[in-house]
Formats: sequence, structure tokens, C-alpha cells
Amino acid sequence: MAPTLPRPYAGYPLISIQNSVAHWFGEQVTSTFPFMNTYDVIVLGAGISGLSAARGLGRAGLRVAVIERDAPGSHASLAAAGILASRGVVRSGVPGRMFYTRSLDGYGEWTKLLERESGREVKIHSGDDWCFFRPGARSDRFRQRLESESDPHRWEEAEEPLSGMRDKLGQGPWRIFRFTEERWCVTANLLEALLGAVAKAGVALVPEAGVPSVSDLGGSWKVESAKGTFEAPILLVAAGPWSGQILSPLGWRANLVPVRGQLALVPRLHDLEAMVHLEDTFYVVPRGDQSLIGATMEHGQWSETTTEQGLGQLQARLMELFPRLDLAAATRVWAGLRPRTRDRVPHLGWLEKGRLLVASGHYRSGISMAPRNGEVVVDLVLGNDPPDDVRGLDPLRPTGGYKRVLE
Ligand SMILES: Cc1cc2nc3c(=O)[nH]c(=O)nc-3n(C[C@H](O)[C@H](O)[C@H](O)COP(=O)(O)OP(=O)(O)OC[C@H]3O[C@@H](n4cnc5c(N)ncnc54)[C@H](O)[C@@H]3O)c2cc1C
Repeated sequence: MAPTLPRPYAGYPLISIQNSVAHWFGEQVTSTFPFMNTYDVIVLGAGISGLSAARGLGRAGLRVAVIERDAPGSHASLAAAGILASRGVVRSGVPGRMFYTRSLDGYGEWTKLLERESGREVKIHSGDDWCFFRPGARSDRFRQRLESESDPHRWEEAEEPLSGMRDKLGQGPWRIFRFTEERWCVTANLLEALLGAVAKAGVALVPEAGVPSVSDLGGSWKVESAKGTFEAPILLVAAGPWSGQILSPLGWRANLVPVRGQLALVPRLHDLEAMVHLEDTFYVVPRGDQSLIGATMEHGQWSETTTEQGLGQLQARLMELFPRLDLAAATRVWAGLRPRTRDRVPHLGWLEKGRLLVASGHYRSGISMAPRNGEVVVDLVLGNDPPDDVRGLDPLRPTGGYKRVLE
């Protein structure tokens, strides 16, 4: 079967990394046809959240089908910048933060396993992360948080940046925080390996299935799609910001909104193998002889297109740091939707114990959280109690959780 290409983001051409994920995904589709009808778990959504869960469940010996509306990995997970920044956090009572750092602690091990299972190399880059702030209350708060949460050996407030960046920077005054041992990846590369690992785990991946309809048969769920009908006693909804649309007809109202981010690839802005952040929102990440720059924060936008206004904002903000930035020289611009819950903490857990699970709302950190997301879903499906780092992520929590709307 010929590989099926993912739907291009409207407004810019299909590009090579999408093709490469699509190619790999095409190979996997060939190997999983024909599909059975009954499974132990059906996963809706093949972004990084659904795929990391499906891999874990498949490896635990469960029969798993992933039903994907479009091409696997073709939305936020491919759009993401791939930043895996820990900021040296070692202790935090903030819900979600412990889960996040535990996930990052396991990242190296997870990607080694993906390499072994898929036969594909996963390249994790590492270096400093330089965070620039204008002096003021915001930078004071940032420093206070570091003092209370982060390993003092992993960060410092620097007098000035290293050469290789210094002569490229805009006019100060700046407060500059330097973090060591930070990491980043290219998400297309990660997704290729994850798709390979999912196939190796025996998971049936059903791409381009359109929006399926889901019926509750009491003891099981029936999912009817353009690619067939599937049944399983457990349904995992992992459809990013669209999770609420799947769950609404089943009587659940999600506290979930999309936050669009626009990004671009431009000629390299500095010579260091290091990331740069402006006020913890905008960033510049090395990509060979280019720099990936991002990202806008546009709440409630469902369209995955770039806009003149958004790219204008990106240019204006990052030009404060790198005055020579010129978006007219960009080789690519794109946009993706971050799934954000009301309290910015993911939804990960049972909506209906033993039968309806949700894993979405990872907002700005779904790539970083993927290893732990997969582990936790397996734990929950196998009937274990939620571990300590997951309790604050309960999708039924009063602040930011789902609400029952039908009986
Ligand atoms: C601009 C931007 C930059 C980011 N940068 C980073 C970063 O540097 N580091 C980091 O850790 N995170 C980052 N993120 C966040 C991260 O990308 C997301 O948290 C993560 O990709 C969410 O994964 P997901 O699988 O939940 O959602 P998605 O990747 O959106 O996947 C959801 C899938 O569900 C499918 N779907 C939808 N409806 C249905 C349906 N009815 N039936 C079946 N399938 C359906 C969709 O087609 C899609 O493939 C960034 C996000 C954006 C947008």
C-alpha cells in the first residue's frame, strides 16, 4: 500500500519531515492490516499522548487499536518545538510539575527503548538554555521560583552571555538566567521512532479514519469509523484539544481549550549549541544551520494556520533579542494547537473507572510528558492506584476537571 500523506497544514506547503513521518507510518499500516474488531483497549488519537500510551499497553500484552482521524502525529505533536527543559527543578508541590520532572528524568531511558524497538536513532540534543528577561517584577518572580524549586548547581544568574551570542543581541538592560544540561529534540524524529515502537508492540494503528462515532454498549464501547467498526471494554480518549468533542456526546463536558502557537525556521541566529528563551514564552532552538523560533500564545483559536498578525508578533518580540531576525527569510512557517485545561494541568485518569480513560490537556509540555504519560496509562489500565505524581492530574478534579452533563 502506498504511504498516505498527512493533511498539510493549510496555508503552507507539505514539507519533508511530514513526508518522512508519513512514509514510516505508511510502512506500519501495511504491517497491521487487516484489522480485527475486538480489542482490550481502543485509543482515540495518535498524537504523542495516544501513541505513548498505546505502546505501553501493547508491551503489557494488551490488544490495542489506535483510531486516528488524520495521519498519526500530524497535529500538535509534529508542530512542537521539542524543548525538554527541566529548569533544574528538584522539588515542587505544584500539581503536574512532579509528573513533568519525573517524565524528563526518564527521557533518556525511554528514547533508548524506542531506538531498540524501532531500529531508528532518536537524537536528543543537549546544551545550555539562556533565559532573558527585562528587569522588573516578572524576572524577580522567575528568580524566586528558581530559588525555591531548582538545584542551585543547575542554574545561575549570569552577568552577560557567552561570545557566540553576545554580539548578536539587542540592546539591554537584560536579566539573564543560564541553565545547564537542558535538552531538546526534533519531534518528527521522535515520532518516527515511537511509531516504529508502537508497531513492534503489536498495536493496530488505524489512520485516516475520519471522526468516528462512539457508542456505549454498557459492557463495551463501539467505535464506528470510515476504516471499520471496533469494540473494546476500555476507551482511552487522547485526542488533544478535540478530546472534549469526543466526550461531549458521551455526557462529559471538558475544561479544554486550544492555544494556537505559530513557529518558523529561519537562518541561524547565533553560533552556540544552546537554546534561548525570552521571558519564558518565546524561544530560539538550534536546528542545524537554522534556528527554530516560536511561539505565539493564541487562546481559543481552532485554526491550524499561520497568520500575518501572529508571525508579526513573533518577529517583533524576538527582534528585541536578535535585531537581525528577518521572518522574510524563513524557510518554513507553521502552527499547532496546544491542548490547555483550565488550570493548565493535564487530564490523566479515569472518567469512568475501569472503562473510560482520558489523556489530554498536556498544553505546552506534551512532548516532555510522553514517557510518564505512557507509564501511567499502563498502571491505570492494569488496576494500580494512581502514583503520587499523578493525583493532581485527576480529570474529575473540581478545578479544571470534566463535568458530567447527562445522566
Ligand atoms: C507551537 C507548539 C509548540 C510546542 N512546543 C513544545 C515543546 O517544545 N515541548 C513540549 O514538551 N511540548 C510542546 N508543545 C506541546 C505538545 O506539542 C502537546 O502538548 C502534545 O503534542 C499534545 O499531544 P496530543 O497527542 O495530546 O495531541 P495531538 O498531537 O494534537 O494529537 C491529537 C490527535 O487526535 C486526533 N483526533 C482528533 N479528533 C479525533 C477523533 N474524533 N477521533 C480520532 N482521532 C482524533 C488528531 O487528528 C490528532 O492526531 C508544543 C505545542 C505547540 C502547538
